[in-house]
Amino acid sequence: MGGGISGLSVSVRLLHRGCDVTLIDSGVNHSSRVAAGMINPLVFRRMNRSWRAGECLDSLRSFYPDLESETATPFFSSVPLRRIFSSDQERRYWLEKQHLAEFREFMNVVTAEDDAFDVVPSPFGSGRVKNVYAINTRAFLPSVRSYVARHGRVITSSFDYNSLSESSYNGVNYDGVIFCEGHQGVHNPWFQFLPLSQTKGEIITIRATTLPDGHSLNRKCFMLPLGNQTFKVGSTYNWNDPTTQPTEEGKQQILDKLSYLIREAVTVLDHEAGIRPTTPDRRAFIGTHPEHPNYHVFNGLGTKGYLIAPLLSEEFVSFLLDGTPLHEEVRIKRFYPGR
Ligand SMILES: Cc1cc2nc3c(=O)[nH]c(=O)nc-3n(C[C@H](O)[C@H](O)[C@H](O)COP(=O)(O)OP(=O)(O)OC[C@H]3O[C@@H](n4cnc5c(N)ncnc54)[C@H](O)[C@@H]3O)c2cc1C
Repeated sequence: MGGGISGLSVSVRLLHRGCDVTLIDSGVNHSSRVAAGMINPLVFRRMNRSWRAGECLDSLRSFYPDLESETATPFFSSVPLRRIFSSDQERRYWLEKQHLAEFREFMNVVTAEDDAFDVVPSPFGSGRVKNVYAINTRAFLPSVRSYVARHGRVITSSFDYNSLSESSYNGVNYDGVIFCEGHQGVHNPWFQFLPLSQTKGEIITIRATTLPDGHSLNRKCFMLPLGNQTFKVGSTYNWNDPTTQPTEEGKQQILDKLSYLIREAVTVLDHEAGIRPTTPDRRAFIGTHPEHPNYHVFNGLGTKGYLIAPLLSEEFVSFLLDGTPLHEEVRIKRFYPGR
């Protein structure tokens, strides 16, 4: 249940394995749709690799292009991304790591050309990230949802917890129900033992004439080019507002961060908010309920759903169908150690 990146990737994996799939989704999505769809293998704060970055990239580099062919819809592209260093220390981290074997796949060696880059203020220089991609979420979600409808079934409605029993939903028998509810998983009556949090994020779309079209820049915020001098810019993090209403304060925060990249006044074309399903240890919640063997959960994809969903959905379906153990860090067992 759930038609965001989690529910769609699990549905596609199950269909590819020949399973009979019914996807139930309210038809209202704020997270996977609002997301910029950036796939960035680095975490800039401490200049680290993202969790299992290499494996995630290996998985998504076949998952998304195969789905593009199966849906005849282009939504996956490679994006040149330049990190504008925020400080001398950050530049030093990059220079130290760029030669290490585990970073070579993700960092270009800083060149004289990088040091001369002055399209935006870069007092500490900049570095180019390798293997960055973007998903056009507005194209991805409806086309993959239609793919699931063609090969299985899609029901657009709210899920009624009271109509679920161990082996049937609304009188229809099933072998397993998988909850991919995103941040709305906080209302799920069976998985209340999982400490799921709601982290609101706001994002704007701007028109700017002096930013380079076709390049993504990142300093304090990211900007993703959409073409015709328009860019997505974001995002904010708010742990205390569970609404999906964009706020004036959120917009101003993004514009303040953007002022480190660009001095010109920009036109704000759009402003949206969504809620990320986040977890205290920044690892997903995946597994089977300890007392209800037909109830499963695939949630907690946090800030990088489009990066990690292809790999985790593949591993989850292999866990369900083949009994392959899940990666230790995502198992929900970590929240009921006594059982
Ligand atoms: C501003 C912002 C920017 C982001 N940028 C990026 C980015 O660039 N790259 C990236 O990888 N990630 C990004 N993210 C994070 C990404 O959005 C999440 O990781 C991802 O969307 C989580 O997907 P999900 O499928 O688990 O949840 P969701 O997308 O929330 O999907 C859950 C679905 O379940 C349905 N549902 C829930 N409960 C019920 C019910 N009871 N009945 C019926 N249907 C139900 C909902 O309607 C929804 O369609 C961003 C998030 C935000 C907010």
